[in-house]
Amino acid sequence: MNKFEQYKQLKEELLGTISEMVNTKKCICCDKEISLLMPEIKSTHPLKQEQSMWGNGIVNKISGGYGSDYDLCEFYFGICDECITNKIRSGHLEDIRDIKTNLRNIGYEGGML
Ligand SMILES: [Zn+2]
Repeated sequence: MNKFEQYKQLKEELLGTISEMVNTKKCICCDKEISLLMPEIKSTHPLKQEQSMWGNGIVNKISGGYGSDYDLCEFYFGICDECITNKIRSGHLEDIRDIKTNLRNIGYEGGML
C-alpha cells in the first residue's frame, strides 16, 4: 500500500470513528426521532451534521448573537417535517422562499442597502 492509499484508509477510519459521535435527534417540538437516512455509511462529520441526509425532518444549527445569553454558542437541533408544516402554518417559521418573493416583488435585487 502506497502512502496515498495509507492516508486515504486512515482518513476513512478517522471519519468512521468520529461519525459515531453523531446521534439520532429528537424533534425539538414533539420528540419524534429524526435519524440519519444511511447511518451505515459513517460519513457524517459531527460539526457538519446539517449536510447529512436525515429522514422525516431537518437537522441544523442555530447560533446565538449579541444580546442573547447564548451569544457565541451553537447548537444542533432537529425538527420533524410534521412540526415544520405546523409551525409554518402558525407563523412560527418563515419560509425564506416567501421572503425572497416579497423582496423581488418590491424590486429589490440584493446587495447593500
Ligand atoms: Zn415534531
